[in-house]
Amino acid sequence: MTVTRFAPSPTGRLHLGHVLAAKVAHDLAREANGTFLLRHEDIDGPRVREEFYQGIEEDLEWLCLKWDGEPLRQTHRITAYEAALESLRARNLVYPCFCTRREIQDEWARMGAAPQGPEAPVYPGTCQKLTPTQQREKIHSGIPYAWRLDSGKTVDLTGPLTFHDLRLGKIPVSPELLGDVVLARKDIGTAYHLAVVVDDAFQEITHVTRGEDLLSSTHVHRLLQVLLGLPEPIYLHHRLMLDENGKRLAKRNDSLSIATLRESGMSPTEVLSLIES
Ligand code: GLU
Repeated sequence: MTVTRFAPSPTGRLHLGHVLAAKVAHDLAREANGTFLLRHEDIDGPRVREEFYQGIEEDLEWLCLKWDGEPLRQTHRITAYEAALESLRARNLVYPCFCTRREIQDEWARMGAAPQGPEAPVYPGTCQKLTPTQQREKIHSGIPYAWRLDSGKTVDLTGPLTFHDLRLGKIPVSPELLGDVVLARKDIGTAYHLAVVVDDAFQEITHVTRGEDLLSSTHVHRLLQVLLGLPEPIYLHHRLMLDENGKRLAKRNDSLSIATLRESGMSPTEVLSLIES
């Protein structure tokens, strides 16, 4: 049984980049007589708006990319993420991080050359060095904190890992790629990497399809799956839709939102033809 999902964040209307992601997941499931699920990744705080859940569903229906069953909302799943975090915390695989964005930037500046990740510099590890007493003192003094994965501790536990991508083949996991990522944000108590892994398992996703811009995240996800005892899905990282300057399409490319294309008189077939190349 093939189960795929489309997992947009309801922080804006869908654009062509999303349509490609939705179509890849939809087609993979439909070709295998499988199940195509919709998950609203709505843990992005104030950027999430009620009208966008509906807008996403309307756009998908208009494009005939209909999902099966009820869409899942991550904000309804906070208890499951807390349990996953607790299981990592019980094994000392996460640590509280009290740094502000500003402090992290200052630390990078002090280091001279910030440790580079695939997209941005990785966390410099400041709070990883705190003693348990220092951690307790900071927590008691009321400083807000996030939880970060202690990636250096995981290698001995898991040994070398790989994941399988239908397009790219077998890829060895490099846990150091994204460094000590945040697994629970200060505001909401969870974060993308943890929530996505917990939900892919919960929804029994067999094939995780997503844009190749998220390839480095998959390294962390595979690691988390092993640490949390979750099943390993097959991956498909697809190409991205680019704008006229060769840049990845983003929500700010408003003219290419599906709603706008639809209002301009295009048919679903015409819109879908824009993502073929
Ligand atoms: N929610 C993510 C996004 O909108 C995608 C999640 C995933 O495929 O892992 O980019």
